[in-house]
Amino acid sequence: MRKDRFIKEWGHDPYYEGRKYPEGTFCPDCGAIHRQGRWTWPEGESPGGEPHLCPACRRIKEDYPAGELYITGSYLDEHRQEILNLVQNIAEEEKRRSPLKRIMAIEEEGDGLRITFTDDHLARRVGEALYRAHRGELEMKYSEGSRFLRLSWRREVP
Ligand SMILES: [Zn+2]
Repeated sequence: MRKDRFIKEWGHDPYYEGRKYPEGTFCPDCGAIHRQGRWTWPEGESPGGEPHLCPACRRIKEDYPAGELYITGSYLDEHRQEILNLVQNIAEEEKRRSPLKRIMAIEEEGDGLRITFTDDHLARRVGEALYRAHRGELEMKYSEGSRFLRLSWRREVP
């Protein structure tokens, strides 16, 4: 039941990643190509299909993230660069694998950082990596009925 409902909802979701496009459809913003049912980076071939924004570029354009991570706590002051490096390394690695997994923005918010993502799995992977590497406290919550994932991580220095 629950699964059916989600599938229907995703069908109306303009960011739905399972939507099918003709082979060779390409994203005019990032250059990703829709090939064999999914968005991938081109491997030297020219697109040849119609232009169509990929779900990630669409999210970026409309400022509609799939996930966000808040990083707070006094630990951040001393370890800011380390934390940012970790976040960016993971994001680079995932982006190489899939054009749909990207960081949208890293912003200062209050005394913390807010990072937004085009993909909820990427948000989760970054949050969990942060927790593994730096301990602290990690909370995550999906918004009811949607795939929006909100994570927060904090660590205070005693
Ligand atoms: Zn794109």
